[in-house]
Amino acid sequence: MVSPLDISQNLSRLKSMVPAGIELVAVSKFQPIEAVKAAYEAGQSLFGESRVQELIEKEKALPADIRWHFIGHLQTNKVKALIGKTVLIESVDSERLLSLIDKESASAGIDTRVLLQVHVATEETKFGFSPDELLEFFREKRYKELARVKLCGLMAMATNTADMEKVRTDFGRASELFREISLHLAPELEDFKILSMGMSEDWPIAVEEGANLIRIGSAIFGARY
Ligand SMILES: *Cc1c(COP(=O)(O)O)cnc(C)c1O
Repeated sequence: MVSPLDISQNLSRLKSMVPAGIELVAVSKFQPIEAVKAAYEAGQSLFGESRVQELIEKEKALPADIRWHFIGHLQTNKVKALIGKTVLIESVDSERLLSLIDKESASAGIDTRVLLQVHVATEETKFGFSPDELLEFFREKRYKELARVKLCGLMAMATNTADMEKVRTDFGRASELFREISLHLAPELEDFKILSMGMSEDWPIAVEEGANLIRIGSAIFGARY
């Protein structure tokens, strides 16, 4: 792991660059507890994890005022364990998963805030709703069936490429969908306000394209092992 001092310096450099009003999730997946602690002590209290087991272990070991986002592919058999541990599940990638989160939240007697992950990259391997599926879901107002899930916005990843114009196009598409839903298809969804996009390599473009939540890992913690 990189030193606590480096983590703290990386964080302050990043924060000085990120415009006001943009929330920063420090992506701590695969990083040791000590790395999270170093970032926490440098003032960061919002972290992102991509595996349920890892999130639960870190949540137990670290200060209770840390807020956790789940950002990885969520397997249906892990939903129950995750409910109640997060302030936001960013990576809901199917209606089946959405219904299950709703059901488990109801059993637990709590509300769960989520983002829908939209697939705008041109890679086969990325999870998420296709733009058409997403629009249909909102046009048909199928979210009205949800009792305990709060739909808070969209999460997207751009194509993994050095071609920054392609990255911009992908983020632009997600941004367009976000506006279409929040302004026209479902303006009654009061919590639908978050557009999560941008990682270490591409966050400035994401912000230019309208992101208000960015998810940064390696630029804070160094490489993952
Ligand atoms: C790992 C990950 C990140 C952070 O990636 P970096 O390139 O290390 O900043 C952001 N979002 C998601 C969904 C991730 O899985």
